[in-house]
Amino acid sequence: MCDTPRRRSVRTEEVKDALSQAAWRGQRKEDEIMKDTVERVTVNLSTNRSVTTIKEKVFTLSEWREEAKKRFGKNPDNWRFRCPKCKREWSVAEYAETKGRDNIESAFQECLYCDWKSYGLLGTMGDGLVVTFEDGSGGEVFNFAEQKKAEE
Ligand SMILES: [Zn+2]
Repeated sequence: MCDTPRRRSVRTEEVKDALSQAAWRGQRKEDEIMKDTVERVTVNLSTNRSVTTIKEKVFTLSEWREEAKKRFGKNPDNWRFRCPKCKREWSVAEYAETKGRDNIESAFQECLYCDWKSYGLLGTMGDGLVVTFEDGSGGEVFNFAEQKKAEE
C-alpha cells in the first residue's frame, strides 16, 4: 500500500513521456508536411509592397480567370467573391447592380458591403489571392466565395 503513490507517480511520468513523444512526432509530421507541400512565393505588388503566400494562392491573370470559370461558370456576372473583413459574399452581377457596370473591375478588389479594399495597406489579411501580370508584378484580390454557381 505504501508504494501506491510512487507507482502512481511513475505512471504519471510514463504518460507524460508518451504524450510528449506523441506531440513531438506530431510536430515533426507537421514540419514534414509543411516542407513537402507548402511552397511559398513572394510577389511584388504594384502598390510597392510585396506579399508572401502559398503557391496555391498565386495565379496568373489567365489562370485566375480559368479558376473563376471552373467555379462559377463562363459568365463573369456569376463569379462570386468574399470580403476578408466582413466575410460577406457577392456576385459580379450584384456588384454591378449597386455600383454600376462601369465599376465591375472593383468587384474583386473593393468590398460591396464595407470599405475594405484588397489593394489597401493590409491587403487581404491572408484571406485572398494574388494575381500576377506579365511584367512580374501582382495584385491582391479577394478570395472566391465558397458558394458554388446555382446549377451545381
Ligand atoms: Zn467587407
